[in-house]
Amino acid sequence: MSSRREFVRKISTSALGLPVLLNSSNLFAYANGPYNGPLLRVAIMGLGSYGTRVAEAMQSCRKAKLVGVISGTPSKVTRWQSKYDIPDKNCYNYKNFDNIKDNPDIDAVYIITPNGLHCEFTLRVARAGKHVICEKPMGINAKEGQQMVDACKAANVKLLIGYRMHFEAKTLKIVGMRKNGEFGKIIFFQGQSGFIIGDPNQWRLNKKLSGGGAMMDIGIYSINGARYMIGEEPIWVTAQETKNDPVKFKEGIDETIQFQMGFPGGAVASCLSTYAVNHLDRFYLAGIEGWAEMQPSTGYGPIKARTHKGELTDPHITHQTVQMDEMAGILLENKQPVIPVDGEEGVKDMKIIDAIYKAAKSGKKIALTSS
Ligand code: NAD
Repeated sequence: MSSRREFVRKISTSALGLPVLLNSSNLFAYANGPYNGPLLRVAIMGLGSYGTRVAEAMQSCRKAKLVGVISGTPSKVTRWQSKYDIPDKNCYNYKNFDNIKDNPDIDAVYIITPNGLHCEFTLRVARAGKHVICEKPMGINAKEGQQMVDACKAANVKLLIGYRMHFEAKTLKIVGMRKNGEFGKIIFFQGQSGFIIGDPNQWRLNKKLSGGGAMMDIGIYSINGARYMIGEEPIWVTAQETKNDPVKFKEGIDETIQFQMGFPGGAVASCLSTYAVNHLDRFYLAGIEGWAEMQPSTGYGPIKARTHKGELTDPHITHQTVQMDEMAGILLENKQPVIPVDGEEGVKDMKIIDAIYKAAKSGKKIALTSS
């Protein structure tokens, strides 16, 4: 996977790179000389598979730096300390991390633990007076999400959700085209999100730690994607659940859910969330005058996208590198992202997930309110 540094090197040696670069203000910022602005000093909580990916990507950030860790596994802490040059005073475990309040060298904590722990840990980080970046899904239901938003407001810290696609160049280009009316009135969105999940004993299949099944983990991409691709908030949902393996996917852990969302402008989204099909990662947006297709649409990239006007060629930059640099701008300089990544944005997705579960269980169409 290419890093920002690789990207900058490539474009400085390639005459072809410049026009591509000038087409994207987001990417242009990367090559725009040395950075002398504020630096976001981040501690990562949860040194698992995604935490490791974020830490590696952050090595290429210019505005954000990994300076601390929170982990229950001392051997991992030692490894990360030597790899990332993290001092002892910035290392915490799940019992003592409230002491981070006395550490002036950490600005934000990035929570990358199982979903069921996001709310509790967000509340503790907020009480310690640090900004929170929390992985998706922000919690296990909208009630938790709202609690997290309220706690961060009360503590006067910001809450951001790890929606990396909100900073991805091709995604932003399609959203820009839709805003410019290039697809005409939007009629239809299709989102397909899935992979075959392995080990039956992992936390993703444990209701207390995951909050649910594929919907919480991967279906959320189709929900969130429908919202930013269409540019409206859904007003109703319907859903149908299929479970072929009730031993692996116990009560409360969804294997496959098909769901539909209706939007105020008349568009409909038809989506599939599943732990039973591999490499399912596709968005399709159709308007009266044009269309966009992304496949893969939300994986780690490179994202492939084309519209009725042709293939999108924006270069790939590691998503988490861009995300963390952009989040530094939001947290330290009050920058406004094109697609929001704040706690309220996370609550919107959680409310839809709650409604989808309700619709799947009852077989009824569930109305969504904006309050
Ligand atoms: P993982 O199992 O690889 O890592 C989870 C980490 O949490 C581990 O280091 C584990 O030790 C720690 N942990 C702390 N308390 C725990 C407990 N009680 N039980 C189990 N583990 C505990 O999981 P992951 O794939 O890194 O996912 C972590 C979070 O990141 C999830 O919320 C997931 O949805 C999110 N995620 C986001 C993306 C993305 O692209 N944005 C991708 C993958 C995962």
